[in-house]
Amino acid sequence: MKKQFIFASNNKNKAEEIRSVLGDEFRIITLKEAGIHIDIPEPYFTLEENAAHKARTIFQLTGENCFSEDSGLEIEALGGRPGVHSARYSGAEANSESNMQKVLSELSEIENRKAQFKTVIFLILNEKEYHFEGICTGIIAKEKAGEKGFGYDPIFIPDGNTKTFAEMDMTEKNKYSHRKKATAKLIEFLNQETSHEKK
Ligand code: IMP
Repeated sequence: MKKQFIFASNNKNKAEEIRSVLGDEFRIITLKEAGIHIDIPEPYFTLEENAAHKARTIFQLTGENCFSEDSGLEIEALGGRPGVHSARYSGAEANSESNMQKVLSELSEIENRKAQFKTVIFLILNEKEYHFEGICTGIIAKEKAGEKGFGYDPIFIPDGNTKTFAEMDMTEKNKYSHRKKATAKLIEFLNQETSHEKK
């Protein structure tokens, strides 16, 4: 039987990306699919703390194995911004479009376009806590390109390619993606743990 985890998020794009690399052994369900209708705040100043807070909230509510992820785009010339504030970078009413416009205008006179995406996954398995990290380095494009993906994908070009994430299908994005790297570490760990449980 597949081992099930609650994914402490309702972000369909993230869930889809994680499912695309999860394999057959494990099943994840989003908060909505688990019948949990809450919006967990992200009040902290680091991805690690926010991720821990989300997973602990769900574990306290359900007692079930669960994990969360928190991601952000860190731009070198902006001192690491938007970072932990990536989702709401352009204000309370922010959306992907307004966030990208803010980044592009802040970088309009700046040569250094270096940036990285970072994902932290926080897992609670059999009441114990673990975390995993994935980083994807790249640059911020001069203008948007592509329709796929979500968030800042149309303006992020990973190192080793000339296309933005939004010009790639999921398989290609997964060759570079921060979320894929963190998820791969999660899966490797879960495979080890599960093989211990089977023995
Ligand atoms: P959070 O992890 O829900 O706090 O959201 C992080 C924000 O970072 C998202 O809303 C996106 O704007 C951005 N983000 C995280 N991962 C990606 C990605 O893979 N592509 C594009 N944007 C991303």
